[in-house]
Amino acid sequence: MPAPIKSFHPPKRTLMGPGPSDVNPRILEAMSRPTIGHLDPVFVSMMDEMKALLQYAFQTKNPLTLPVSAPGSAGMEMCFVNLVEPGDKVIVCQNGAFGGRMKENVERCGGVAVMVEDAWGSAVDAGKLEDVLKKNRDAKVVAFVHAETSTGALSDVKTLAGIAHRYGCLVIVDAVTSLGGSPLKVDEWEIDAIYSGSQKCLSCTPGLSPVSFNERAVERIKARKTKVQSWFLDLTLVMGYWGSGKRAYHHTAPINALYGLHEALVILQEEGLENAWARHARNHQALKAGVEAMGLKFVVKEGERLPQLNSIYIPDGVDDAAVRAALLKDYNLEIGAGLGAMAGKIWRIGLMGYASNPTNVLFCLSALEETLAHVNAPIKRGAAVAAAHRALG
Ligand SMILES: *Cc1c(COP(=O)(O)O)cnc(C)c1O
Repeated sequence: MPAPIKSFHPPKRTLMGPGPSDVNPRILEAMSRPTIGHLDPVFVSMMDEMKALLQYAFQTKNPLTLPVSAPGSAGMEMCFVNLVEPGDKVIVCQNGAFGGRMKENVERCGGVAVMVEDAWGSAVDAGKLEDVLKKNRDAKVVAFVHAETSTGALSDVKTLAGIAHRYGCLVIVDAVTSLGGSPLKVDEWEIDAIYSGSQKCLSCTPGLSPVSFNERAVERIKARKTKVQSWFLDLTLVMGYWGSGKRAYHHTAPINALYGLHEALVILQEEGLENAWARHARNHQALKAGVEAMGLKFVVKEGERLPQLNSIYIPDGVDDAAVRAALLKDYNLEIGAGLGAMAGKIWRIGLMGYASNPTNVLFCLSALEETLAHVNAPIKRGAAVAAAHRALG
């Protein structure tokens, strides 16, 4: 007889990678509250609050604002399957890994993806987008990533959306890593469709994807000639449950996960969006002061850097996997590896949501310095923590 399998007890880590981020204990406590029915009137009133809280987080009045019962990738699919019909031309700006997934989505919807490529680590170039739009006057949608988590680059949504609209296109924005961490104003910037995730700067558990669609997007969906090929993500059906009025069964909502997201959004509202953005910026400045004092270099140029995702080059001769394994084993600290072409070349240090705090900045700097010193990496020792302290003021 093999030994019986026991309950699973994960170790207590500090999560400073590309997501998930550390979950606020208030959220875990909220998730342990009693499960009730998904059509229970008490639950339904919680759903109404959820919509108001998400509208605040997205800075929108869009009535069609809800959390998809699946991770950020499902929010992405919801945007594409509802807004792209077979034969539609979609301009996809790619400056990292996640733009590539948008292309996949367009093609699986039967659309034609026209790519606007920028170097990994750069923001999306508005001039290039405009050039491609001039040559593709029949394009229907422009899609791009606000905060490229694979590289740490931040793009200018307002400018890109303005250009797309001048050419009559709808705009789909990936805000998985930006929501709650970087300024994002859905109505003011006229974003037509947007998706995010629960586990990055909202610091909730993974598995939910806040989305929002404006009136223009709803019009486009109503004018579709073909059925949305995904039954689960068809917005007209989902609205029967999340819309106002009588709620009909669509799928069983992930009740306790939604308690968690509700709590995460309450926490965001308590802090205030502007304060949350400022906190992310402050802790980024402290981490930056520390890593630069060590002699490490940022991948993304100043002015295009995400405060919540800091990509730095791995010093010459240092074994990427060995350092990350040592951080995990000796410090219970997770940082992110590079993706795709950047694998083995960069580390990605997340300062997202609840994990964006001075204690984590100082802890990460001292753990990284010790670990790098141990493998004789070419770094300057003894300066990082002091530099971060000075930046924190
Ligand atoms: C994490 C992430 C996603 C995917 O979200 P999942 O919840 O992992 O499905 C999409 N886009 C960006 C920019 C991300 O950082």
